[in-house]
Amino acid sequence: MAKKTTKKSNETGWDYAPSLESIGHIDLKESYDLFIDGKWVKPSSGKYFETINPANEKVLAKVAHANEEDVDRAVKAARKAYDTVWSKMPASERAKYIFRIARLMQERARELSVIETLDAGKSIRESRDIDVPLACNHFFYYAGWADKLEYAFPNRDFEPLGVAGQIIPWNFPLLMAAWKIAPALAAGNTVVLKPAETTPLTALKLAEIIELSGLPPGVVNIVTGFGDTGAAIVEHPEVNKVAFTGSTAVGKHIQRAVAGTDKKVTLELGGKSSNIIFEDAPIDQAVEGIINGIFFNQGHVCCAGSRLFVQESVAELVVRKLKQRMDSLYVGDPLDKNTDIGAINSKEQLEVINKYIKIGIEEGAEMYQPNCELPDKGYFCRPTLFSNVAQSNVIAQEEIFGPVLTIQTFRTVDEVIQKANNSPYGLAAGVWTDKGSRIFNLTSKLRAGVVWANTYNKFDPASPFGGYKESGFGREGGLHGLRAYVKLK
Ligand code: ADP
Repeated sequence: MAKKTTKKSNETGWDYAPSLESIGHIDLKESYDLFIDGKWVKPSSGKYFETINPANEKVLAKVAHANEEDVDRAVKAARKAYDTVWSKMPASERAKYIFRIARLMQERARELSVIETLDAGKSIRESRDIDVPLACNHFFYYAGWADKLEYAFPNRDFEPLGVAGQIIPWNFPLLMAAWKIAPALAAGNTVVLKPAETTPLTALKLAEIIELSGLPPGVVNIVTGFGDTGAAIVEHPEVNKVAFTGSTAVGKHIQRAVAGTDKKVTLELGGKSSNIIFEDAPIDQAVEGIINGIFFNQGHVCCAGSRLFVQESVAELVVRKLKQRMDSLYVGDPLDKNTDIGAINSKEQLEVINKYIKIGIEEGAEMYQPNCELPDKGYFCRPTLFSNVAQSNVIAQEEIFGPVLTIQTFRTVDEVIQKANNSPYGLAAGVWTDKGSRIFNLTSKLRAGVVWANTYNKFDPASPFGGYKESGFGREGGLHGLRAYVKLK
């Protein structure tokens, strides 16, 4: 399955021999059914779709397409498991199952990382060092809360919501599944989860792990499919809670679909996050943070630092250093441990990114891309920098979800706060400065759910994550993440 990779070279003239992660140890079936009520069942329509490796366009496996009938079966199984087993089980027993899932994931971390890289196109370095360890940590973290909920909600009566319908996107497939499933189970709910159509494999591997853990049948059900499958979950009358991460357009659609029902909803949607560099910032560290913030995971990060604001006095220096660093990035085979930027998740997404790059050029912004080699097959995009960008430009306003960074300059603190907040989104922001007081000033004024100081894209299961404005509502992670899965009385 591994693609033969030639020697890599980037603009710096340094060459590295390929260092491919082995795929010999992974166990992928040719075809996957739906995981409902603890069993693998065929989709009632008999339909399957293919999931491909975006780095070489080869088919990895066939996956069942669940329709309304299948979703109904899954929701009924989740309801039965909730009523008869999960809600009656002592919390300390629930905790043991969640802990066991975390341990089993950890044991299979290497296999999960490789499958994530094959299915999503993300570099093995990211899936191995970020996605999979963080996903395990979410299960560990929430296993710890399961029997301590009275400390999470002191002096309050609370109860679980029931059946949680969870729909996740393709940018962090396993991690998003962990973000959704772990707190739901810890709070005593049962789950029907749908992974994204381009990245179903690690959720299906998680279903195998769940089966192995002995979790009672029906507590977690995994159904694969497209938007119609997601819509069937959202609209099912016996689903008590909808948790969605994905595009703002679908998020708005979901809100309309649940209007007038008593379903609880959390939405984690798009972003156009700002990274702000002041003249007193440690510039090299900041440049590295900017590179990580936007080119990490091919820019497929809802909180990607896609808008850079640099104080005018250091703008030239920052742009020069950014270009130099971009020249040293490796774009290519995601399985290669040297790769910085892997494959774009799908052909459709590559088309979206290329459309925005074209718009940027037409808007008169100045584009810079290193002249690195790209593989002949698969969906790849060079890291792209736009300077000479106006606040009103489409590339500075709309979410691109790719490795594309815009730069604008500013003179004063008030000016940059006003510019950074001038966005329909408000997911995250980064501030780079030597002054603690300035950090506190900005964190209170930036309308963003997360503000990082002198770092970017740092995650921890104990910290809540979520947005303002069109970036959605509700928080995931930490204590706040549990709250979304209980009714406080
Ligand atoms: P992205 O742009 O990140 O792919 P989407 O919002 O299109 O985001 O997809 C995120 C998830 O939502 C996927 O699992 C997708 O299948 C699902 N989805 C798409 N349309 C709908 C819908 N109308 N109702 C519920 N889920 C949907």
